[in-house]
Amino acid sequence: MKRILNYIDGNFCEPISGSWIDNIAPATGKVYSQIPDSGAADVENAYQAAAKAFPGWSTTSYTERSRIMSRLADLIGENLEALALAESIDNGKPVSLAKTVDIPRAESNIRFYATAIMHFSSEAHIMENAAVNYTNRKPIGVVGCISPWNLPLYLFTWKIAPALASGNCVVAKPSEVTPMTAFMLSELCTKAGLPKGVFNIVHGLGTKAGDAIISHPEIKAISFTGGTATGAYIASKAAPMFKKLSLELGGKNPNIIFDDCDFDRMLTTTVHSSFANQGQICLCGSRIFVQRGIYDRFKAAFVEKVSRMVPGHPQNPDTKFGALVSKPHMEKVLEYIELAKSEGGTVLCGGTKFDPADDELKGGYYVLPTVIEGLHYACRTNQEEIFGPVVTITPFDTDEEVLVMANSVKYGLSATVWTTDLNRAHKFSGQLETGIVWVNCWLVRDLRTPFGGVKASGVGREGGFEALHFFTEPQNVCIQLH
Ligand code: NAD
Repeated sequence: MKRILNYIDGNFCEPISGSWIDNIAPATGKVYSQIPDSGAADVENAYQAAAKAFPGWSTTSYTERSRIMSRLADLIGENLEALALAESIDNGKPVSLAKTVDIPRAESNIRFYATAIMHFSSEAHIMENAAVNYTNRKPIGVVGCISPWNLPLYLFTWKIAPALASGNCVVAKPSEVTPMTAFMLSELCTKAGLPKGVFNIVHGLGTKAGDAIISHPEIKAISFTGGTATGAYIASKAAPMFKKLSLELGGKNPNIIFDDCDFDRMLTTTVHSSFANQGQICLCGSRIFVQRGIYDRFKAAFVEKVSRMVPGHPQNPDTKFGALVSKPHMEKVLEYIELAKSEGGTVLCGGTKFDPADDELKGGYYVLPTVIEGLHYACRTNQEEIFGPVVTITPFDTDEEVLVMANSVKYGLSATVWTTDLNRAHKFSGQLETGIVWVNCWLVRDLRTPFGGVKASGVGREGGFEALHFFTEPQNVCIQLH
């Protein structure tokens, strides 16, 4: 059985405890590898390695850091096929999605920050005839990066790339549910020539290895992506230690469809924005609001398209809809479907577990894409994050009415708006309580823009140069002019 190893001080090492956690392939439900069950002692070793490497890395020239990171980006691109296959096996997502989205975007993350650091500058403020102020942006030191399972390598690199580019050394933990591509990345880091100790990966449970990272007194910043409850816990532990915190958390995103939209374009994208990665993208639109004039037409066309989406073997290149990430997650999603029914919802398609004909897939975690109507916008199904292939559809009459529904949740990650009325697009977008609004599109991403949510979807948003700011401490130097 393949064993994933920790990556500490440039070495591949077993957990100090000697214990291992089974890693299950969601497509089959079978154990296919093991990961270290790391704890505080492993995190301490990773911290010591990072602290030792910090003086060298933080004073390495921008050009040299950029060169090493660009080489790492190249290596991700050169290993696209192998990484995409590994991510599909680990996560249950269609290999085609991993190949076109996850891995290319992981490469882009590294390349973006490898080049951004070359253009990074800090501010100067001149007080006429009195003084000159300039801002020194210094790397923080050793920082912690913790990522979730849904877009494993993409979100892992989203955290570590700005941290490394700005001169920090990193102790990172990928999700224990999907550790494989982070392990492969550590091999690529060695090949790219990243100095020992600059980047360390400790695998293991959130409550053990993750907790040791966030509680470590010398790890001065935490960049976390994951669930809102975990984010709240991390904030409660890290804030009293005055750590810098970036928390990218859950969502319950509205998809608002006005009757003047380009119907065909909207329909194609809405199927995708609802069910890509089996609905397990934090930016998926799970609450679809449709203006009454086109509600029946939308409902018929949407349900017809969704009913034709049948889960398939994630590693088959033609599969568009794969397995959910784990058994507990599948059970949670199925419970929410039952809740929706008890709240008065009508299941228009899907609504059940799917049993594949292929014997190999019998133990896998498959749920049919599910569309539900007839629910009040304030019910639990419409307020709580399900994070699976379940969407609700709800008619509305006016802009004012749908705005109330869209903003009614505690979350504020993203929204999608479909309209051809430019004035409405601007006005309505500005009134939405979300960090991101996509108008007539979805998941289009420019890495220079801020990314992340408001309300319970997160704080300390990163994106473009903001992430380089997050991972540096500003110091003002004031020189009086005589
Ligand atoms: P999770 O919160 O369970 O776990 C995320 C990471 O935190 C994992 O690596 C886990 O091991 C670690 N962790 C768990 N408990 C911890 C603790 N006590 N201390 C330190 N680390 C701990 O989330 P998940 O189930 O892996 O991911 C799904 C969630 O992530 C969803 O809520 C989704 O919306 C959210 N998400 C948000 C974004 C975003 O950009 N806002 C992107 C992707 C996913």
